Amino acid sequence: MEWNEESIGKLRTLWAEGLSTAEIGRRLNISKNAVVGKAHRLNLPARPSPIRRQESGAAVRPVPPKRAHGPTLPPLTASVGAPTASLRAVMPSVKMAPRATPCCWPIGEPGKPSFHFCNAAAVAGKPYCEEHAAIAYVRVRDKREDAA
Ligand SMILES: [Zn+2]
Repeated sequence: MEWNEESIGKLRTLWAEGLSTAEIGRRLNISKNAVVGKAHRLNLPARPSPIRRQESGAAVRPVPPKRAHGPTLPPLTASVGAPTASLRAVMPSVKMAPRATPCCWPIGEPGKPSFHFCNAAAVAGKPYCEEHAAIAYVRVRDKREDAA
C-alpha cells in the first residue's frame, strides 16, 4: 500500500474522528501497525485514552459528544404519534360493527339447500331485521292471546 495524498487524507480524517487504529486499518485496507506507524510519522495528535478504547472493544465505540448533527431522533418520536392518531380514527368503526348483526330469521325449510337466513341488518338489540322482528312480536302476541 502506497501512501498518497488521498490515503493520508483519509487517515487524518478517520484519526480525527477517533476511530481505533484497527478500524482505520480496516477502512484503508492496511494493517493496524501501518496506521500507527504512519500516524506517528505524520505527528498526528494523540487521541484521548486510545488504550482504554481498544481494551473495551474497538467495535463498541461510544458516540462522540461533539456530534451535533443528530436531528434524526425528533422525527422518530413524531412518527410514533401518527399511528396512534390513525388508530383512534379506526376505533369508532370497530365499535359500530357488532351492532349491525345480520337478521337470523330462517327462510325456507331447514335441511333443504334453499334454506337460509334473512341476513338483513337487524334492529339494534334484536336478532331480527325490522320486518321479521314485527312478525316475531305478532306471533308472541297471538300465542299469548290464545293462551288467555
Ligand atoms: Zn329479517
